[in-house]
Parts: sequence; structure tokens; C-alpha cells
Amino acid sequence: MADIGNLKASLGDIPLVTDPTKVQLRSRDFYWYSPVLKRQLENVCADLVVEPRDEAEVIRALAACHRQRVPVTVRGGGTGNYGQAMPLKGGVVLDLSRLDKVREVGLGRVRAEAGAKLARIDQLCQVDSAQELRFHPSTLKMGTIGGFVAGGSSGVGSITWGILRDRGNILGLRVITMEDEPRAIELRGDAIQKVNHAYGTNGVITEVEMPLAPAYPWVDLIVGFDDLMSAARFGDALARQDGLVKKLITALGAPIAELYFRPLKSRIPDGASVVLLMIAEPSMEAFRDFLSLWPGKILLERAASDPRRKGLPIYELSWNHTTLHALRIDPTITYLQVLYPPPSHLELVERMFRHFGDEVMIHLEFVRFDGQIACFGLPIVRFTSEERLDEIIAYHEDHGCPIFNPHAYTLEEGGMKQVDHSHLAFKREADPSGLLNPGKMLGWESPDLDMSLRSYLYRSLAG
Ligand code: FAD
Repeated sequence: MADIGNLKASLGDIPLVTDPTKVQLRSRDFYWYSPVLKRQLENVCADLVVEPRDEAEVIRALAACHRQRVPVTVRGGGTGNYGQAMPLKGGVVLDLSRLDKVREVGLGRVRAEAGAKLARIDQLCQVDSAQELRFHPSTLKMGTIGGFVAGGSSGVGSITWGILRDRGNILGLRVITMEDEPRAIELRGDAIQKVNHAYGTNGVITEVEMPLAPAYPWVDLIVGFDDLMSAARFGDALARQDGLVKKLITALGAPIAELYFRPLKSRIPDGASVVLLMIAEPSMEAFRDFLSLWPGKILLERAASDPRRKGLPIYELSWNHTTLHALRIDPTITYLQVLYPPPSHLELVERMFRHFGDEVMIHLEFVRFDGQIACFGLPIVRFTSEERLDEIIAYHEDHGCPIFNPHAYTLEEGGMKQVDHSHLAFKREADPSGLLNPGKMLGWESPDLDMSLRSYLYRSLAG
């Protein structure tokens, strides 16, 4: 049992949060998205929240925790939705939100402290040099750059730029090790993958360097269709229009928009399936010509410069925000994360749609994946029992649609279904005592585990 009193004394003037209610709040993320995680993680709580103001204080805090063998779980914006930032074994939550400086913006790159909010980085880059992050999670406003790299994967802009795991989508990471005398290590190139999407289990990221894209004025659109497959085919064809600059293509089967997008209720006809889009203003003429070939109707259009453009940006209806809107209206629903592998992704979508009907409402996010157009699924599931959820997962996997299980908090179950040996090897080097976010890396906790390889998400990095 850690001696927290002693730890507090050794942290000196580093800001701490000790109020039990605040510590409880800061020990939680969006784990409650999943009824399974809600049950499993409800009582997880840290002993103390530590809020370093700079990297030197991160190093001091890690050294103090290491000496007393206190577990440390890093927190950015706390928007992870699989309990990634929850301290399973108590100890310290290391909240990095005070490390929020944007250090440098250059042509095609930005370097920021890990706790900087994505929206702030994006905005500073736009003002500085008409650039923006290539892609961001739909939690642009709340998520941090360090949390996105450590806990996220893809998002708004992935239709053009792919996902975080693709080479070139993260340029550099500065990582602090968990030892008596913590070291700072700069990772670049393929070495970045040692820490990318490792949930902070093998190092604390203090700085991130990301590539930038030209910033466009984006037009938000909703296009309505009479049926899901027309919406899905349109989304897929639009994704292949290489000359059209786009940032978001989300297809939602009926009745998702009609039931769950309350602020847009008057705009969504009964039974409509919809496609949410962000199109660059200079591409709008070309987009209208493309749309004229399809049986879709524009239900909403808001230019970036539109003075009436209030309320939610369209991306806050997409990705995991769709699920959030649904949960607000109907807390009994849940969701899954599916890959419909290309090139037969649309056939697979149709097969799942025909099989499950209304029980699994289709939500597709089109992305570039390993150089091809593919779609990730975030279907909304009418939850009845954990057994039924397992059956739904098994049906998808048996029919060639891997599930990245959002009802599990370990890296391996939620992600690649296999131990990431580069994560594991780096953990041996950077966290030899196993104190960083314990319980989240099965490859460390249970070295003999047989994950019976079912999918390999990132083929392009193999070998
Ligand atoms: P946190 O939740 O604080 O942390 C995430 C993980 O990273 C935790 O394991 C934490 O321990 C670790 N961590 C945080 N900071 C560091 C650090 N500096 N060093 C080491 N480890 C660290 N994800 C997507 O990929 N795409 C989406 O479009 C998307 N949409 C979402 C929408 C909603 C409504 C919600 C609730 C979640 C969504 N997510 C999405 C998941 C999540 O929001 C993102 O991954 C987000 O980027 C996490 O950032 P954060 O700062 O909140 O991280």
C-alpha cells in the first residue's frame, strides 16, 4: 500500500488536488459510454491528482512516485471512451492540462506541449499561417494533443490523410520515462510507434510535433437519401473524388438522425438516411455537379462565412459524437467499433444491415486506410444484454468485420487483438517497474497470453 502522505510531502510545491469528489471526477473519462465498462469501472479512483506546470515538474513527480512505487495514470482532456485514463490500481492521476504551450508553428508542422487542447493548436495555426491539423477527433474542443496520440486513432480529416498510425501523421514525440531518475527521450520516424496509441503505459508524452495541412473555409452539409445503401454508395464515391477537397464523410442509416439529432429535427425527413459532409469552399461547385448525379437532397448547408452559423459544427455530430447524441436521448443504447475491410466494405455493410435491421443502426465514417478508401463503423446498438452484445460482435467477426471492442479497457482487446511488441519492448525500457497506467497492457500483465490473432489492423507497418 503506497504511503500517499509521504508522497505528497515529496512533491513539494507541485499543484495537487486532494478533495475526494474532485479526485473521483478526475479519475473518470467517458467509460460510461459502455454498459460493460460502467459496471466494471464504477469504483475506480486515484488517491491524488498531480498537476505539473512544466516538464521539470513532470520529471520530479515521476521520480517521487517511482521511489515510492506509486502507480501513475496520465490524463489529458479525459475524453477517452474506454476507461483508458482511469487509474485501475489507484495512486496518482497525472493531469497534464497545465502543459499547454504551443511552442512553434512552421511550414507544415507544429510543436506543442502534450496538454495543449487540439482546438487551440488548430486555431493558432490558422491565425499564424492559414494552416490546420491534418485531422482531429470530433472532441477537438476538449481533447489534448498528447491524449489524442496516446488514446485516439483517427477522425475528422482521415478521409484525406489516413490515421495516426500512418507514417508521417506524427512527426515527433518527447517522452519521459518512469524511473528513479526519469529520462527524456525524443522519438521520431518509425520509433514513434513505440508510444503511439499505448494509453500512456510506457512513457509520459510531454511534447508532440504534428504535420499540418492548408486551412480551408469548410462548408458543413447534410445530404438526405431515401435508404442507407444509397447514402453509403454516395459517401464511397465521393471519397474517391480526388480533386474535391473534403474533411468529413459520415453516412448514418435511418433513423439515427431523425431520432437523435434533436437540434436538427425539423430538417430531417422521416425515414431519411443522411450523409454529413465538410467540403472546402473552393470545391463546392464541383461538389454540386457531383451531387446532381445522385438521388440525394441537401438538407442543410452552412458556409464557414455564414453569419447564421451558430450551434454545433457538423463534426460534433460525427464520429463518437453521434453516439453521444444518441446516449443523451436514449441512455439504454450502446455502440460498437467495426472495420469493414476494403474492397468489399459496402457489401459487408449491406450484409450486416440486412441481418440486424434496427437492432444495429449503421454509422459509417469513410477514411483512407492503408492507401484505400474504407469505412469504419460506429453502429448504434439497441442494448439488451452483455450476452447478446457478444453474439453481435461474434457475427461481425465471423463475417470478416473485425470489432475494435469499445467494451474493453485493455489495449489488446480494444485495438489490434494482439500484443504490440514494440509497445512492450519500450515499456521494459521506459517503465521497468510497471507503474504507468497498470492493468491496461495485457502483454505486460500476462506475458503468456495467447491472443489468437484475428486481425491485423495496420498492415502497412508490418515487417
Ligand atoms: P485522455 O482521455 O485524457 O487520455 C487518453 C489516453 O491517453 C489515456 O490512456 C491516458 O492515460 C493517455 N494519455 C493522455 N495524455 C497523455 C500523455 N501526455 N502521455 C501519455 N499518455 C497520455 N477518438 C478518435 O480517435 N477519433 C474521434 O473522432 C473521437 N471522437 C470522440 C468523441 C467523443 C464524444 C468521445 C467521448 C471520445 C472520442 N474519441 C475519439 C476518443 C477521445 O476523445 C480521443 O481519443 C481524444 O483525443 C483523447 O484525448 P484526451 O486528451 O481527452 O485524452
